[in-house]
Amino acid sequence: MEKMLASCQSHLEQILDDFVDEFEEAPDVVRLEDMPAEENEVIEATCRYCGRKAIVFVKSCRKNYSDG
Ligand SMILES: [Zn+2]
Repeated sequence: MEKMLASCQSHLEQILDDFVDEFEEAPDVVRLEDMPAEENEVIEATCRYCGRKAIVFVKSCRKNYSDG
């Protein structure tokens, strides 16, 4: 399971704090507008704080982590 959280623009700072709290690592920040079109059509995420459309995604930047 990929570690990823989503938020709207105004809750970016909170989602970053949450990510660090939950996963204890610094995330990569990816904006919806920077994603390839086919990928961003599939993603229908909402902000976990206000329920608006998420436009910022924070995810693990570790490339080879093993869950275990
Ligand atoms: Zn929000």
